[in-house]
Amino acid sequence: MPPLDPEEFLRQDLLGFPPYTMAPVTTDDFARIIKLDANENAFGPSPRTVAALADFRHWHRYATQDELLPALARYVGVDASQLVVGNGGDELIDWIECAFLAPGDTIVNCPPTFEMYSHYAHIIGARVMDVPRRADFSIDVDAVERVISPLPNPPPSKTGEGRVGVKLLFLTNPNNPTGTPMPRADIERLLALPVMILLDEAYAEFGGETMVARVPTQPNLIILRTFSKWAGLAGLRVGYCVAHPRIADQLRRIKSPYNVNAAAIVAARASLDDVDYLRANIERIIAERERLTIALASLGFLQPVPSKTNFILCRVVGRDSLVLRDALASRGILIRAYKSGMLREYIRITVGTPEEDERLIQDLKELT
Ligand code: PMP
Repeated sequence: MPPLDPEEFLRQDLLGFPPYTMAPVTTDDFARIIKLDANENAFGPSPRTVAALADFRHWHRYATQDELLPALARYVGVDASQLVVGNGGDELIDWIECAFLAPGDTIVNCPPTFEMYSHYAHIIGARVMDVPRRADFSIDVDAVERVISPLPNPPPSKTGEGRVGVKLLFLTNPNNPTGTPMPRADIERLLALPVMILLDEAYAEFGGETMVARVPTQPNLIILRTFSKWAGLAGLRVGYCVAHPRIADQLRRIKSPYNVNAAAIVAARASLDDVDYLRANIERIIAERERLTIALASLGFLQPVPSKTNFILCRVVGRDSLVLRDALASRGILIRAYKSGMLREYIRITVGTPEEDERLIQDLKELT
């Protein structure tokens, strides 16, 4: 018998699937590079979080997310029945799509935006309907309204089909990678559409306006949040969503039993006990963002887009954005650039510490 070809057993439609790409850095590199490519928190976790992790002794036990819920409910200002915690916000995007989408269902996506919305939809075999943003990166609300029209809603069947037409609309406020906020009036208009809305507020703590207070009265609204940015826990993977209790219950039914690991639970609890410290860091990042925006603009070849996040998108004028990224990388400074699409002429820079940002500006001056 010829040897079995394992590839024949794989889903053929996913062969050659484009992976999410990230810089090839190791944890050993973190101390020697200036990492401004992934929108991490420049100041890291709170000292109380670091101490809680060092003191914890029970790594051999499974831990469950339930113990996080009371403190998280207080922080967010909702009832614990509306919260589900995930192994990072990414995992929640994955499950939320699993909970709502069957192969052939449709999502509406507004690029340029966070790549994982379409990534998981493609894996499920759902259709991704792109409604591109306008030149100023605002959402074309009229165009979104046109593609999401009221449709008859047949009773859900046991085979997985429910509503036909567009099921999920992804909104990001403020948006990644543009850093731009969404006007509240636009969100309100879109909430009136007959569709489930995943409103991603991963960067809300840096100056965005949250819609959390609307969740109890708006059953089609699910809000996604994360500890990666404001609390400096990106490496520990803690995200959560705020949803109608029936949606939250359904998400808990389909999740992996111990999806949030013990270190993440210990760290998130300690962070929620040290919110004042973390808020002070958020204020420092916001002040540094404003200072860096001015410094980048004064270089002459970068046009920063005003940001409400912990990163700044800049148009690169008169030079190649990928060459600029590589030149900085060879000096130990990582930033993000884009190979194609609306962002081909842009770079994205995470706000660093004042010292890191000073090095960045100096190196950019030397590269002019
Ligand atoms: N949403 C947006 C808009 C993001 O930028 C990110 C992280 N880059 C996430 C969600 C997911 O964050 P995490 O998985 O680290 O919680």
